[in-house]
Amino acid sequence: MAVLLFKDVNKVYPNGYHAVHDFNMEIKDGEFICLVGDSGCGKSTTLRMIAGLEDITAGEFYIDGKLANQMSSRERGIAMVFQSYALYPHLTVYENLAFGLMLEGIDADIIEEKVQATAKILGLTEYLERFPRNLSGGQCQRVAVGRALIRKVSIFLMDEPLSNLDAKQRVTMRSEIKQIHRSVGATTIYVTHDQTEAMTMSDRIVVMKSGGWVQQIGTPFELYFYPKNLFVAGFIGEPPMNFLRGTVQNGKFVNDAGLTLDIAPLVKDVASIEGKKVVFAFRPEAIKIAKGEKVAKEDYYLIESQVDLTELLGDTTNVYANVGDVNVILKVNPHDTPEMGSTFSFCVPHKAAYIYDAETEEAVPSDIVRN
Ligand code: ADP
Repeated sequence: MAVLLFKDVNKVYPNGYHAVHDFNMEIKDGEFICLVGDSGCGKSTTLRMIAGLEDITAGEFYIDGKLANQMSSRERGIAMVFQSYALYPHLTVYENLAFGLMLEGIDADIIEEKVQATAKILGLTEYLERFPRNLSGGQCQRVAVGRALIRKVSIFLMDEPLSNLDAKQRVTMRSEIKQIHRSVGATTIYVTHDQTEAMTMSDRIVVMKSGGWVQQIGTPFELYFYPKNLFVAGFIGEPPMNFLRGTVQNGKFVNDAGLTLDIAPLVKDVASIEGKKVVFAFRPEAIKIAKGEKVAKEDYYLIESQVDLTELLGDTTNVYANVGDVNVILKVNPHDTPEMGSTFSFCVPHKAAYIYDAETEEAVPSDIVRN
C-alpha cells in the first residue's frame, strides 16, 4: 500500500537552478503514473526527490500520510530501475537478482525461491548463470526490473528504463512492464520523454515543461481529447496537432490566408473572445479528405489546401500540405491520398477542433463532447 501526496513541492539546486515548481498531486495506491516532457523539464529531479536521492527544497511529500521529506531511501520502501540498468558486470544474473537480499541477510533457501520466482515472471530462468555482457539489452533491462521486483516494495520508480533498447524491444518490454505492474500492484512512477510510452502504459500522465512546471495531469484519454493548453496539445499525439493562427472577427476565426470558420459551436461564449488572437487546432488523424463535400456543414469545417509531399506508411499516408502559408500534416487512408501538388479539401469535424487563446495559450472553454 502506498499513497503519495505532493504539496507545493519545489526543487532548487545549490547553483540556484529552480528545476521543479509547485508540484501538487495525489497518487493513489497501485497507480501507474508517467512523468513525461522534453529533456531537462525536471522529470528525473521529481523522481529522485521521491526516492530520497535529492532533498526537497520546499513543500511537503507524504507517503501513506506520513511526512517523508526527511525519510531515508530505505525507509521509503522504494525500488528504482535506471536507464543504465546498473547491473553488476562481474556477477551472474542469479547473483545480480540475489544481491540485495543477501545484503539484508535473508536465508539462502528463501533467496533461491525468490530468485527462481522472479526469473520465471521475467522469462530469465535459462539465463541465470550468464553474465550481463552475454545478455541482450532487453534481457539486461529485465534483470534490472527483476532486481527491483524481488524486493517486494510498494513503490516502483523507473527512470527512462527502455531508452537503451531498440524500437521492437521497447514495445515488448512496455507490455511486460504493464503486466508486471498488474500482477504486483505497486504504485509506479515512470519517467519517459516518449509520449507513446506514456500513453500506452499510464493510468495517469503528468505533462511537464521546461523549468519543472506541470502543465496537465490526466488520463491518456483526457490528455488526448481535452488538452488544456497549447503545450499539451502539441506534445501529446503523433504527428502533432495542427495549429492555424488567426483572430476572431464577428464570431468567426479569420486568418491572413483568407480562411473564415464559424467557431461559435466550438466555444461556450464566442463573444468573450471577439477580437482576440486565437489558434484553431485539429489533429492530423481527425480529418477526412472531402469527396464531393463542397461547403461546411453543421458538424464539420471544410478547409482547402495544397499537397507538398505524401508519405505512405502502409496503414496510413501522411500528407504534408499547406493551408495558406501554414504547413499542416494530415493522416489519411492510403486509398484517399491526394496527388502531389494538387489542391484538395478536407473536413474537420467540430468535435475534433479546438480553440486556444494565443496569448495565454489556454483552451477557450468549450462544451463539446469529444469521444
Ligand atoms: P529531465 O529528467 O526532465 O530530463 P532533470 O530533472 O534531469 O530533467 O533536470 C532538470 C533541470 O535541472 C535541467 O535543466 C538540469 O540541467 C538541471 N539539473 C539537474 N541536476 C542538477 C544539479 N545537480 N545541479 C544543477 N542543475 C541540475
